[in-house]
Amino acid sequence: MLCGNYEKGLMEKILVLNPDWCKGCGICAAFCPKDALEMIQGKVSLKENNQCILCGLCEQRCPDYAIFVSDSGK
Ligand code: SF4
Ligand code: SF4
Repeated sequence: MLCGNYEKGLMEKILVLNPDWCKGCGICAAFCPKDALEMIQGKVSLKENNQCILCGLCEQRCPDYAIFVSDSGK
C-alpha cells in the first residue's frame, strides 16, 4: 500500500505501508509528530486527512519493517 507523496527535487518520496508485516503494536503512531497514523482492525493505516510529512520517524521505530519512506524513483 502506498500512501502520500510530495515532490523533492526530481525524486518523489512516498510512505509505504506493508500490512502483512504489521502487528498493530502502535509504536509508529505513538512517535509520529503529526499524529498521521491510526490502527484499523489491528493494522497501521494513514488517517484520511493525510498529515504525513515523510519525516521517517515511523520507519525508525517500527520493529517489523512494516512502514517506511521510499523514493518512488520518479
Ligand atoms: S513519516 Fe513521519 S509524519 Fe509520516 S507517518 Fe511516519 S512519523 Fe508520521
Ligand atoms: S510500529 Fe510497525 S508493526 Fe507496529 S503498528 Fe506501526 S507499522 Fe505496525
